[in-house]
Amino acid sequence: MGGNTLFEFRMLGFDIKIDSSWLFIAALITWSLASRWFPSVLSGYSLITHWLLGALGAAGFFISILLHEMGHSVVARNYGIPIKGITLFIFGGVAELGHNPKNPKQEFMVAAAGPLVSFLLGLLFFGIGGMVQSAGISIPLAAVLRYLFMINIILAIFNLVPAFPLDGGRIFRAILWKGFKDYGKATRWAAKTGMFFAYALMAWGVWDIFHGNYISGLWSFFIAMFLHNAAKSIAAHYPKK
Ligand SMILES: [Zn+2]
Repeated sequence: MGGNTLFEFRMLGFDIKIDSSWLFIAALITWSLASRWFPSVLSGYSLITHWLLGALGAAGFFISILLHEMGHSVVARNYGIPIKGITLFIFGGVAELGHNPKNPKQEFMVAAAGPLVSFLLGLLFFGIGGMVQSAGISIPLAAVLRYLFMINIILAIFNLVPAFPLDGGRIFRAILWKGFKDYGKATRWAAKTGMFFAYALMAWGVWDIFHGNYISGLWSFFIAMFLHNAAKSIAAHYPKK
């Protein structure tokens, strides 16, 4: 990944880089939680509480993405695929593999590990949040946990959309690869599906903007552009012979 590294650390033997663009998403999440989500689910708390909870939510989101990428990385490493590093940047995270998986099963397992981690984290936050709420420990903390439950389930589902380069697109490529017995052809098909999804997401973003939801609309649009470019560039690596 290009860009500027804000800071770097090692965890479980992986190099973790935080790109400076991550600051933008951290600020955006904190702001939207503090100004919209928490005021709507927690009445009677101060503005400062909402902002502190927003920052806590953003930190939890950060850890959730990191663990999602760790999921991919641990499974890849178990197959003997070296991990160049994990980068967290404006559109989430990416675990850079040293080389492609050797067979469809490896690709499937590496891709599925991330959404599985997000799904399990969602369940974990749901469970802890329920306990915190019913034991009357802290209503604001329970609200943060409820947000983290929701965001992890959304991450799991969004990433499972069969649109390359999303995890679901990699799972789709693994299935095509097994069927076609041709990695290049599977990649071209998965990339085409990815580009189709990116156009749909762009249209959705534009629709959202025209309906006054500027931030979420622009966000969808930029994510769609990022996905489109990634799908297009991977397809270019495997031209039709
Ligand atoms: Zn993933």
